[in-house]
Amino acid sequence: MAATMSQGEQLDGNAAAGLLGGVFAFDVTVARVECAGCHHEDAIACLHVYALEMGAILRCPACNDVMLRVSNAGGTWWLDTRGMERLQISGG
Ligand SMILES: [Zn+2]
Repeated sequence: MAATMSQGEQLDGNAAAGLLGGVFAFDVTVARVECAGCHHEDAIACLHVYALEMGAILRCPACNDVMLRVSNAGGTWWLDTRGMERLQISGG
């Protein structure tokens, strides 16, 4: 992430639940993710969230790399998952 980009206030992953709920039809905060940078595993609810005007940036709590970007612009969802090694969804 560019150092010049405003990242807002750091929150936890629960703050992105509403945004991600627009993309995923399950409780995304209990889904587990693996960081592509350091392989730390955690629930999405435990990621560090930086809320932006149009979306959010979710960072790894272990190494601070960006794991997920989500935004909605003009009714279109944008999801950048390059920082995640995998997403694990249990149940269903
Ligand atoms: Zn990491």
